[in-house]
Amino acid sequence: MTEKFSFQLHARSGKARAGTIHTPRGEIRTPAFMPVGTAATVKAMLPGSVRQTGADILLGNTYHLMLRPTAERIDRLGGLHKFMNWERPILTDSGGFQVMSLSSLRKMSEDGVTFKSHIDGSKHHLTPERSMEIQRLLGSDIVMCFDECPALPAERDEIARSMRMSMRWAGRSREAFGDRPGHALFGIQQGGLDEQLRGESADALKAIGFEGYAVGGLAVGEGQKAMFEVLDFAPDQLPEDKPRYLMGVGKPDDIVGAVKRGIDMMDCVLPSRSGRTGQVFTRRGVVNIKNARHQDDPRPLDEACSCPACSNYSRAYLHHVFRSQEIISSMLLTWHNLHYFQEIMQQMRAAIAVDDFAGFERQFHAERALGDIEPV
Ligand SMILES: [Zn+2]
Repeated sequence: MTEKFSFQLHARSGKARAGTIHTPRGEIRTPAFMPVGTAATVKAMLPGSVRQTGADILLGNTYHLMLRPTAERIDRLGGLHKFMNWERPILTDSGGFQVMSLSSLRKMSEDGVTFKSHIDGSKHHLTPERSMEIQRLLGSDIVMCFDECPALPAERDEIARSMRMSMRWAGRSREAFGDRPGHALFGIQQGGLDEQLRGESADALKAIGFEGYAVGGLAVGEGQKAMFEVLDFAPDQLPEDKPRYLMGVGKPDDIVGAVKRGIDMMDCVLPSRSGRTGQVFTRRGVVNIKNARHQDDPRPLDEACSCPACSNYSRAYLHHVFRSQEIISSMLLTWHNLHYFQEIMQQMRAAIAVDDFAGFERQFHAERALGDIEPV
C-alpha cells in the first residue's frame, strides 16, 4: 500500500476518465460515488455493508460532526475512521455549505462565518483555519477547502465577489493545512454559471496548487440543463492530471452526464435518503415502493440486481415493511439504492476501459425509457 496520495488515469472515452486514487487507507476507483455518512454513519447501513455495495470512500460532514459529538471528542477517541468503524478513505466537506443551509443567524465576514447551531443554538465561528483544524482532528483523508457557496440565482457582481473571497480562503486553507503526507487538500472552483468567472477561479486555485479540484456551487437548484452547460467547460479549466470532484451530485442521470463531461468523483445523500422515504432507483427508473400496485407483487424490485433486497425479498414484502414503518425497510431500500449507484459506477469504469462510454450511455437511457415493469 502506498504512503502517498496520488492519482493515476488509466483510460479515457471521449471526455470520460477512469483512474485510481491511491491513499494510505486504500485505493479509490474512479469515477467514484461516495455515500454520505453525515453524522459518522451512513444511515441504516453497517460500514461492512456499505463496503459490500462497492464503495471505496465515504463522505463525512464537518458541520454536523463539529457540533455533535465535536471534532475534539472524535480525536480523543482515535479519529473518525476508528470511531465509526470504517477503515477506508474518508472525505470531509469544509462545513461551509451546511452552515449556509442549516444554521441560523449567520454572519459572514472576510475572516469567516459566525453562526448558531441548529441543534442547541450555541454560537460557533468557522474560518478556513478552524475548518482545516476540525478536518485534521477527524483524520479525514481528503480535506476540502473552506469556501462560500452563494445561492443561485445571484447577480454576477455578487458571484464574483463571493468567488474571489473563496479563492482567498483557499489560500488560507492551503496554508493552514500544512504538510501532511498521505492526506490531500482539494480546492473548490466557484463562479456560478459564468465561464469567465469559473476560469478565473480555476486559475487562482491552480496558482495555489491542490491534490484535487472540486467543481463547487452546482446542484443548488439551477437544474440539470444549466449544470451540464457548466460541466461542458468547467472540468476542462481544471488540471488534467488531478481528480475532479462534483459536489452534491446527484440522480443517476446527473451522475452519468457528469462522468461523460470529465468528472471523477461525486457524492450525494440521495440513495440513502430516498431509501428511507421509499423511493427506489432501478435500471428502469424510479419505483415508489409505497404505491399500492406492489402489495401483491411477488417479484423482486429488479430481477437483475444482486443486492439483498432484490435477492431475498418481493416487492410485496418491501411494500409491507415500508407501510408498517419497520426498520428493515430503510435497511433494505438503502442497500439496494447504494448498490445500484455503485453498479452504475462500475459499469461506467468498465465502459471507459474499453473506450465505449457511448455504448454504456445508450443502454442506460434505453433501459430507463422502458419504465418500471408492468403491474401484476
Ligand atoms: Zn437490489
